[in-house]
Amino acid sequence: MAIIDVKNLNLGFNTESGFRQALWDVSFSLEAGKMLALVGESGCGKTISAMSILQLLPKTAKILSGEIIYSGENILTRSNEDMQQIRGKKIALIPQDPMTSLNPLFTVGEQLLEVIRIHQGLKGKAAEEKAVEALEKVQIPMAKERLKSYPHEFSGGMKQRAIIAMALACNAQILIADEPTTALDVTIQSQIMDLIKQIIVNDNTSVLFITHDLALVRENADDVAVMYAGRIVEKSDAYEFFKNTCHPYSQALLNSLPNVRGRNLETIKGQPPSINQDISGCRFHPRCKKCYEPCKELIPELTACSDNHFCACHLVP
Ligand code: SF4
Repeated sequence: MAIIDVKNLNLGFNTESGFRQALWDVSFSLEAGKMLALVGESGCGKTISAMSILQLLPKTAKILSGEIIYSGENILTRSNEDMQQIRGKKIALIPQDPMTSLNPLFTVGEQLLEVIRIHQGLKGKAAEEKAVEALEKVQIPMAKERLKSYPHEFSGGMKQRAIIAMALACNAQILIADEPTTALDVTIQSQIMDLIKQIIVNDNTSVLFITHDLALVRENADDVAVMYAGRIVEKSDAYEFFKNTCHPYSQALLNSLPNVRGRNLETIKGQPPSINQDISGCRFHPRCKKCYEPCKELIPELTACSDNHFCACHLVP
């Protein structure tokens, strides 16, 4: 069952050169107790799609149309006050760089207790017990003592664990993890991903995992949606996606991974388009090895290529 349903989201920005559209008909569903990976290169629209769910958009952004259904309601119609009740309490964000979320001037405990006070209404000993429990849940050793530490006394991995502890302390049903391991080394990266998967299993939490890293997706995600230049170009469950990758962009991303299908590493020529570039037809066509005449004029629709597998490419029936 979908816990979040993003439907036909169209969004743009007011820029110096006028209004520019950045998302076209973006639709995806996050299932309860599952991890959906939203994949693509930087600037493809994955973070802005996720921030639309939280309604944490820059002032220059404007949602043109679409719905975001949560608990049976379109939350795009909710007021900022209502959204404050949802953010953190129901849907929490794990950012790429934990230092942007942890205040260096306060101890980890003070920040965690503040979250618990706001979201659970607990104070004193009860709040402290909850804080210790949250740090233990994310496997921070000597949790009680660690409450007194400042963020700079934590390693990168521990800071990210502390952020996850804050999300758990709010009993958030949904975690939006925006490249949560990018700033970490490979070993810590896999520990944090293991921790997130454990939370999914233990608490039936749903995770929207924003990443450019298909290797992490292959190891961790249940479902995959690939974005390119503001559009979803392929989506499927992860097993089917890696077995029968359909879209030339997804195939190129996979072929640029080491040790995949025994192929040599490939690179994708060129750069993704900027928001100011007008591209007719398929937005991937200037970079696509399989581009043929119709691709330059006609926009490919996202269509089913098999059960629960959708692709937007003229070559895929
Ligand atoms: Fe490539 Fe054409 Fe498919 Fe676009 S529609 S991905 S350009 S083959």
